[in-house]
Amino acid sequence: MNDQYGRRIDYMRVSVTDRCNLRCVYCMPGEGFSFLPHEDILSFEEIERVCRIGVRLGITKIKLTGGEPLVRRGIPDLVGKLKGIPGIDEVTLTTNGILLKEQINELVSNGLASVNISIDTLDERRYFRMTRGGDIKKALEGMESALKYPDLKVKVNCVAFCEEDCISLALLAKKRKIDVRFIEMMPIGNGKNFNGKMSEEIYKLLHNEFGDYEIYKKRVGNGPAEYIRFHNFDGRIGFISALSHKFCYKCNRIRLTSEGFLKPCLQYGNGTDVREMLRNGADDSLIEEKMREAVFFKPDGHEFGRSGKGEEIETKKMSQIGG
Ligand code: SAM
Ligand code: SF4
Repeated sequence: MNDQYGRRIDYMRVSVTDRCNLRCVYCMPGEGFSFLPHEDILSFEEIERVCRIGVRLGITKIKLTGGEPLVRRGIPDLVGKLKGIPGIDEVTLTTNGILLKEQINELVSNGLASVNISIDTLDERRYFRMTRGGDIKKALEGMESALKYPDLKVKVNCVAFCEEDCISLALLAKKRKIDVRFIEMMPIGNGKNFNGKMSEEIYKLLHNEFGDYEIYKKRVGNGPAEYIRFHNFDGRIGFISALSHKFCYKCNRIRLTSEGFLKPCLQYGNGTDVREMLRNGADDSLIEEKMREAVFFKPDGHEFGRSGKGEEIETKKMSQIGG
């Protein structure tokens, strides 16, 4: 369906948990917070039902996210169930990669189309510090395991903090068919306390290092990334520039949090409590109507750094929203 501004909404990010096996400094606090009790999280049956209703609104692509989705048991089964819904074309996943190696086979055989692996640095010690205890070797093993499936699209997502990381991560795309995407840090949750590198600076840095590049004019994938390819590189380099090149005018997504709240925009707390309806006997048409209403009134765009226009500003952490 189209929202009030004529944007076609066909992509839903579904968070399956607020828990994570890492504690990235800009995403989660190190301590002093609690996770949702299990009973507050949507069951797989509830997620499947919301996705079926989503199809009636025009949702065709689903991305599983979290927290870390792979810490929840049974994600490959969920992929299979969602892929089996008539009208769903694509089910994809975003993960930190730590548990990917052990689950990749089942994920792919259940129909996973693409995986985004979040890696912000290849430096072992920096990775350990930035994730508060993570082992880069595990994340890289996860990435390597995904690359063994020729039909699976593999992307690496990076919030970059230093030049060395930009270059070493971009180099992953040199000899392999990986898209490496640089994401600008958004002032959400703990992200407010960090300044990542902005796209413009990374473009310049990579241009100095790797020379000329070809620009992809056509949209690639489901998201807002803009892509380039350096000569002699197998993969592409993407930029997701939510701050410097606001792309809200072409935003096609909504988000379902792990506790079943449908959020039409990352920045605002507005939306609709789907879980309440699911658990109070609402029928599909009532849930569909409320979801339509939430999608229709999707805000025209974020106003990071400003307070928005009467909408309620989101106070949750990225791991609780499903970034
Ligand atoms: N755990 C999974 C992962 O790391 O891919 C999925 C959830 S995580 C919240 C999804 C993505 O959000 C990660 O790539 C992470 O780097 C990104 N992220 C978290 N906080 C962010 C922020 N403030 N600004 C931009 N990206 C952020
Ligand atoms: Fe966990 Fe992903 Fe957030 Fe890192 S970015 S703490 S891996 S949810």
